Amino acid sequence: MASTQTASRFLIAGAGIGGLSAAIALARDGTPIQVLERAKTHSTHGAGIQLGPNATKILDDWGVLERLSSKAVISEGIAIGDGLTGEHLATVPFGEAARRRYGAPFLLVHRHDLHQALAETARDLPGVEITMDCEVLAYKQSPDEIDLTTTKGSVCGRALIAADGLWSRLRPQIDAGVALQFTGKTAWRTLVDPGDLPEPLRGPQTGLWFGKGAHLVHYPVCGGEKINVVAVARERSGERAEGWNQEADPQSLLTCFESWDEGVAHIVRSGAAWRKWSLYYHPPLRAWTHGSVTMIGDAAHPVLPFLAQGGGLAIEDAAVLVKVLKEFDGDPAHAFRQFERVRIGRTSRTGYESRRMGKIYHMGGVLRLARNFILRRQSPETLLKRLDWLYRFGADTG
Ligand SMILES: Cc1cc2nc3c(=O)[nH]c(=O)nc-3n(C[C@H](O)[C@H](O)[C@H](O)COP(=O)(O)OP(=O)(O)OC[C@H]3O[C@@H](n4cnc5c(N)ncnc54)[C@H](O)[C@@H]3O)c2cc1C
Repeated sequence: MASTQTASRFLIAGAGIGGLSAAIALARDGTPIQVLERAKTHSTHGAGIQLGPNATKILDDWGVLERLSSKAVISEGIAIGDGLTGEHLATVPFGEAARRRYGAPFLLVHRHDLHQALAETARDLPGVEITMDCEVLAYKQSPDEIDLTTTKGSVCGRALIAADGLWSRLRPQIDAGVALQFTGKTAWRTLVDPGDLPEPLRGPQTGLWFGKGAHLVHYPVCGGEKINVVAVARERSGERAEGWNQEADPQSLLTCFESWDEGVAHIVRSGAAWRKWSLYYHPPLRAWTHGSVTMIGDAAHPVLPFLAQGGGLAIEDAAVLVKVLKEFDGDPAHAFRQFERVRIGRTSRTGYESRRMGKIYHMGGVLRLARNFILRRQSPETLLKRLDWLYRFGADTG
């Protein structure tokens, strides 16, 4: 017979950003949690991640920001340039402006540091158990119980949150009708030493360079000890990579950037060990929820990375989920349906805007000239204000 703790616990598949966030949010509210993670150890690979005030505000409430602060860099803003000419086009100001406007900072961190801070916070909370090296294969549910089949045997609980990422194994059980579509683009990432870049490119901000069919992003991570570089470009080899850890031959990348401004191309040449991740588009799902099972993060609503918000949305999901559960007195089936209703608008808009931004970043010809003309005329304040819908978010606003 199941113990009271086992019968009342919520199961979470995946200890990524979304799964660990959900564990923290629910455990802070007194719900016992078991997180099941396929990997043997918490992710040490990956790249940098930008966290907008919508996410850092929630992390601050949970005490995660305190653990992260020595390794995070507070971003002064985004410097946008035309990568083909090296011309600076516009600045989106963060720093104090963002803190004043949104009540939280814009942070630049290494994924490993974020995972560590989330995992440590979760483990310190009573009622949280994290089982590594345990892949969730499928679930069955009866009115009172979820029964999981995992590589370590069967595990049961009261509800299931599938936070198993873009390539979710559980998604087809909830919504079988949707398939990932390859965008034809790949994100390459590497870390470089700040000393390898000229002074203006090392500062505490994001550099965002537009090019035809490609763009380049760089920003400091690990407290400023490294610069994270991500280049997104057309995949010429036809190869598709799942996860961040596939080694990448930089030759096609170097070829793509050789006609760019010398200063920008130098950033790409500074990278030694490149890894890559194929970019997939996922049409909106018909349903995220099936009885006492729901999905969060990339499993529910993967977004392309052009607004740097997939991780932020996963953190928001966790904060909203716990709020809705309280409203429904901990009844998962009703709360999960409401959670989906509350979140669908914001996550769909972010997905749509991310795709739109990708098209703008990669414009060529006359469209590129028109984009640059418009951007040169935008004041920093106007550009920041345009992002209010994204960054001015609290779990209350859903
Ligand atoms: C190039 C690029 C840049 C990005 N930049 C940003 C950014 O700057 N800011 C931002 O907010 N977001 C960014 N993102 C998006 C962000 O990385 C994702 O949205 C985020 O990681 C989603 O979190 P998640 O927890 O849903 O999924 P994941 O982080 O993918 O975690 C899923 C976890 O589930 C585990 N798992 C998978 N299957 C199973 C299973 N069957 N059983 C048990 N465990 C399982 C995995 O091992 C993993 O630990 C970027 C993405 C890309 C590709």
